[in-house]
Amino acid sequence: LFISLEGIDGSGKSTQTQALVEWLRAQGRDPLRTREPGGSDGAEEIRRLLVEGNPDRWSAETEILLFTAARRDHLERTIRPALAAGRDVVTDRFADSTRVYQGATRGELRGLVDRIHAEAIGVEPDLTLILDMDPELALSRGLARDSGEDRFEDFGLAFQQKLRAGFQALAEEAPGRCHLVDASAEPDSVARALAQIVASHLTQ
Ligand code: C5P
Repeated sequence: LFISLEGIDGSGKSTQTQALVEWLRAQGRDPLRTREPGGSDGAEEIRRLLVEGNPDRWSAETEILLFTAARRDHLERTIRPALAAGRDVVTDRFADSTRVYQGATRGELRGLVDRIHAEAIGVEPDLTLILDMDPELALSRGLARDSGEDRFEDFGLAFQQKLRAGFQALAEEAPGRCHLVDASAEPDSVARALAQIVASHLTQ
């Protein structure tokens, strides 16, 4: 199974990605944990171009191309080989992040994101778990860490609110693939909710 976790900054994606990988392992499966931007040597290099340095150095269009180049490498070098070997892949972000971060928040670039995705990537996860959380809660929990690596100098609430709305809209656009999960609960209970959704896909 190819699973992606999505959500705003600080919604707990990396904690939940780890929890889901542990749950899959406990089911006797062989999951691979990975992330975007990154997840392969080349894509991690592109990540550095995106998240380090002056955040204004790329135009929105160039940024879409860089995220997509990283995703193509991630797909070729990490995701496809793992799926071909019969493993599950659990990725912290995939194409939906580009649809929302670049497509929904910076002008009307969603059409461009979709065209480039169709040509260069062309695949979707089997299942996408969207961690839905009020950005104010993410901030107050200190989950939206303000690390040096982060390319956004401020986690402007208005920007994060737009992202949240973008992810919610995506969940309505692709209801078969995307599941919106309330991520404001305790991490253990969010993890159980995610495991339940994955379990129902495993038995299908
Ligand atoms: O999820 P992670 O914290 O690793 O993402 C690294 C940075 O890239 C974050 O600041 C995130 O908001 C940003 N990002 C982005 N567009 C994407 C994916 C991530 O601006 N498509």
